[in-house]
Amino acid sequence: AQVFQAEFIKSSVRTEDCPSDGLPEFALVGRSNVGKSSLLNSIVRRKKLALTSKKPGKTQCINHFKVNDSWYLVDLPGYGYASAPQELRTDWNKFTKDYFLNRSTLVSVFLLIDASIPAKKIDLEYASWLGQNQVPMTLIFTKCDKRKKKKNGGKRPEENVNEFQELIRDFFETAPPWIMTSGVTNQGRDEMLLHMAQLRNY
Ligand code: GDP
Repeated sequence: AQVFQAEFIKSSVRTEDCPSDGLPEFALVGRSNVGKSSLLNSIVRRKKLALTSKKPGKTQCINHFKVNDSWYLVDLPGYGYASAPQELRTDWNKFTKDYFLNRSTLVSVFLLIDASIPAKKIDLEYASWLGQNQVPMTLIFTKCDKRKKKKNGGKRPEENVNEFQELIRDFFETAPPWIMTSGVTNQGRDEMLLHMAQLRNY
């Protein structure tokens, strides 16, 4: 699985406004600062692509990137911004939830979890919501290159990864697939591309 080509297509604020060509898609979502832009860039290996969606106003949208002219990577608004007014946050929640429940071409939600820190309540809540609503999900652990640090709970990425999976086990009938990644070392890049190729060919 290779990326020959990737281009930004459009920003949408509602599910109905998303591209209607029926191509399969994978949506990336996670807490702000989880490493989503770095991971997107690592997947498509184009430094400026994900940055497009970081322009003011675009971070609150559903951003579609077409890959190899045959499938989409979708950048969703981050959650858990400490500084966003509650009103705004609820709004993002509403439309991303609508997208998760009603986007028929959505193959899997890639929930990004920072593996360099212990599980956060908001991430567990997000995972549980996806599980309870039976939205197909893949756990993408980010920043797996980071060494353990006392201030981050003193655990290795592998330990945080195991703990997170343990904590969400009850929300799923079968444990969601998971991949360990790093936008710095490109760890997990090929595994992610292969995983997406396999899911598309079902
Ligand atoms: P976003 O807000 O989710 O798009 O996160 P960014 O990709 O902008 O990354 C947030 C911060 O984490 C930046 O300071 C990055 O340099 C850092 N970061 C992102 N990915 C990694 C990673 O895989 N490893 C390490 N060590 N740091 C990362």
